[in-house]
Amino acid sequence: MFITFEGIDGSGKSTQARMLAERLPDAVLTREPGGSPGAEEIRQLLLTGDPDRWSAETEILLFTAARRDHLEKTIRPALEAGRTVICDRFADSTRIYQGATRGDLRATVDRLHDLMIGREPDLTFVIDMDPSVALERGLARGSGEDRFEDFGLGFQETLRHGFLQLAHDHADRCVVIEGNRAPEAVAAEVAAQLAAREVA
Ligand code: C5P
Repeated sequence: MFITFEGIDGSGKSTQARMLAERLPDAVLTREPGGSPGAEEIRQLLLTGDPDRWSAETEILLFTAARRDHLEKTIRPALEAGRTVICDRFADSTRIYQGATRGDLRATVDRLHDLMIGREPDLTFVIDMDPSVALERGLARGSGEDRFEDFGLGFQETLRHGFLQLAHDHADRCVVIEGNRAPEAVAAEVAAQLAAREVA
């Protein structure tokens, strides 16, 4: 089973991905951008350096190249070995971050995805969070690694709206989870939702 976690910066999705992986003995925990040696190199190109280094279109190509390598080297082999893959961000992040916040590039993102990736998760947890709380958490975390987290509240609100709309449009695979609670409470709901789907 291929499970992804999505949400705005500071929503706690990475913590939740890790907590779910700890519950599942066969799980492979991975992340984007990155998740394979080549894709981690592309991550460095994307997240460091001058913020205006790449145009929106080039950025989409780099994210897609990283995802293709991640899919070939990490995700597909693990799924074929019968393991559960838990991924911290996947194509939905590109649909929202690049597709909706740097001009109207959603159609470009979707076309590239169809051409080069062609795989959707079986289940996506969208960890929803009030952007002001998430922003505080994101800043508190003080990650110096990347340039994307620095855009402020309005940007985070656009992202939140985008993720909620996406979850609504793909209700077959997306579950929205209220993230503004203790991590253990969020993790318990994630586990319950997964169990409900495995039984169904
Ligand atoms: O989830 P994580 O914090 O590791 O993601 C690194 C950064 O990359 C985030 O700040 C996110 O804003 C950005 N990102 C992006 N487009 C994607 C995936 C991640 O802008 N498709």
